[in-house]
Amino acid sequence: MKLSERQKAIIEIVKENEPIIGDDIAKKLELSRATIRPDLTILTMLNILGARPKVGYFFTGKIPTNRFIDEVKEQKVRDYMSVPVILDEGSSIYEGIVTIFLEDTGTIFVTRDRELVGVVSRKDLLRSTIGQFEIEQTPLSVIMTRMPNIIKVDPDESIYEASRLLEKHGIDALPVVEEMDGQLRVIGRFTKTNILRIFVEWGEE
Ligand code: ADP
Repeated sequence: MKLSERQKAIIEIVKENEPIIGDDIAKKLELSRATIRPDLTILTMLNILGARPKVGYFFTGKIPTNRFIDEVKEQKVRDYMSVPVILDEGSSIYEGIVTIFLEDTGTIFVTRDRELVGVVSRKDLLRSTIGQFEIEQTPLSVIMTRMPNIIKVDPDESIYEASRLLEKHGIDALPVVEEMDGQLRVIGRFTKTNILRIFVEWGEE
């Protein structure tokens, strides 16, 4: 529920002057008591303001949180993640470059015997092409960011926490990992594109 500008102004007045009677709130807004009565009713019904007879209105300290905020903290990564793009650590830089075009992705997760060992981004690949590497002969393991420096996320983590990690570390993608047989297996990817998609889908609802 979105509060009107006048309702927000009333909350501010009550916060600063509590307890305050309705007439005084109206006076401060240069409005009549009758004009603000529906606002006071709504604010008390929402439990943002409390009212004590003969004392006045006070601020409860509780502004209802927005549904959007609740949702980003409750929704799980596993329900929004994409299919991961994975190559073996022995794959060449050339194969990495072809893969990001074919799979339309920006980040490749690198594995050894199915275990996550590295991450390679677009710029890692680009950088390697202006270096000394023979890109068809050099394996991805030479240029990847490797464990233990990989920022990863659990499928049951919230989409808020995953977004926070992307923002904090200035990266585009997180491998979604699960431990299987004592190994870290990549079961998905959570990227800035997923967040954009969530934002647009929820905006349309
Ligand atoms: P780009 O380099 O193409 O802009 P990123 O911002 O995602 O893409 O990557 C920046 C650097 O961080 C790269 O060197 C990449 O290897 C590394 N990186 C990307 N994703 C991760 C991750 N999940 N954990 C650790 N390092 C990462």
